[in-house]
Amino acid sequence: MVILLAKRGLIRNVYIISMVNIAFWALTLIYFKMAVLDQLTSQQAIDLENKYGAHNYHPLPVVLNRGEGVYVWDVEGKKYYDFLSAYSAVNQGHCHPKIISAMVHQAQTLTLTSRAFHNDMLGKFEKFACEFFGFDKLLPMNTGAEAVETAIKICRKWAYEVKGIDENEAQIIVCENNFHGRTTTIISFSNDPVARKNFGPYTKGFIKIEYDNLRALENALKNNPNVSGFLVEPIQGEAGVYVPSENYLTKAKALCEAHNVLFIADEVQTGIARTGRLLATCGHCSCENKNCSNTPDVKPDILILGKAISGGVYPVSAVLANDAIMNVIKPGNHGSTFGGNPVAAAVAMAALEVVRDEKLAQNAFELGNLFRSELNKYIKTSNIVQLIRGKGLLNAIVINDGEESDTAWNICLALRDNGLLAKPTHGNIIRFAPPLIMDKEQLLDCVNIITKTLKKFEK
Ligand SMILES: *Cc1c(COP(=O)(O)O)cnc(C)c1O
Repeated sequence: MVILLAKRGLIRNVYIISMVNIAFWALTLIYFKMAVLDQLTSQQAIDLENKYGAHNYHPLPVVLNRGEGVYVWDVEGKKYYDFLSAYSAVNQGHCHPKIISAMVHQAQTLTLTSRAFHNDMLGKFEKFACEFFGFDKLLPMNTGAEAVETAIKICRKWAYEVKGIDENEAQIIVCENNFHGRTTTIISFSNDPVARKNFGPYTKGFIKIEYDNLRALENALKNNPNVSGFLVEPIQGEAGVYVPSENYLTKAKALCEAHNVLFIADEVQTGIARTGRLLATCGHCSCENKNCSNTPDVKPDILILGKAISGGVYPVSAVLANDAIMNVIKPGNHGSTFGGNPVAAAVAMAALEVVRDEKLAQNAFELGNLFRSELNKYIKTSNIVQLIRGKGLLNAIVINDGEESDTAWNICLALRDNGLLAKPTHGNIIRFAPPLIMDKEQLLDCVNIITKTLKKFEK
């Protein structure tokens, strides 16, 4: 009897243990399936994009699924330094906790009212940004291209209502090799055939001149009372990080003033600490960088911001101007359902606070100098790199090979294999633009990766 009971207990114990065992393995299997089987490989993810996505980009073959600070990870778990920062949108580093927390909090509270009603975040953001950058008013949009479109519209309306140009006669001067986005009007004044061809008919009213050429600007302004604006990138980023001569912007601004023409700075890429100052044109900004005073301020009449104004977590863009200009915009003239939504407002304020509190302009200034001086040491001995140019942490190297060769692309593939992500821009140029929260040790580690990789391409 006793033996029998003991046996039964034993059987029950064995039974329980085996059930626990089965449950354990079942859970392990489910977990395994979730973690491994549902996780696409890089190739699977690329194949999906190729099959179902429009082919409007040619990305470097790497598939990312996580980012933190200056690092990103691919789906296989390999870690990289991000040396592009989403074209300078992620200046504050990936998933900055302060920005993410502002976004999550606002997303749980109120996301979108449209501008049919007021919300309690937009005004706060507008005040914050106006004081931050030194302007009277801000018009919020979502993408960089929309902000450029907005600036063009404001400039034209100002031309007719304030400057007194005859209807439909206003002209805006732009620069060759510009990049201002991808809308129909913007590509109308691009000279990149890939961006432009077969998208006509094109928008009229733009005069194209050579970048960094004051004589050309003067000639375009002279004897042409219909010119109302000069739209310019303080550094041409997309074209290959072309830094204009020392006093180009100051003198261009003076010429514009003399001809009663609005100086419109597209700082979508150069703005928000990227070039070692809060703005590449600086203006009366709240930039903490003492080095700023070495370069004269150029206060744009219209300032266009995008990309890093949200730290790359949400599409936010903005156009800033003083009342005399911005007041030409009346209800119904312009707008966007999502422009100035509460999440965008919360995110942008947090993103700008990070730039100020973490002194990112100062850091970009110092690390930029270090980066160029370290790379120049290598370039002196190199026959594969011609030069490095840039300001702050917006830099590019020019590869010593034909424009049509794929050397720059191959170097970027090799950099990827060595744990650093960068991408060629036009021709044989590689842009280097890491997040501005990088520290000195990380930067020197990157210099090491870059020079080690380039050495393999020496001829
Ligand atoms: C990226 C960029 C734009 C366009 O911004 P999107 O958000 O891509 O529309 C406009 N101007 C400059 C200088 C840029 O770098």
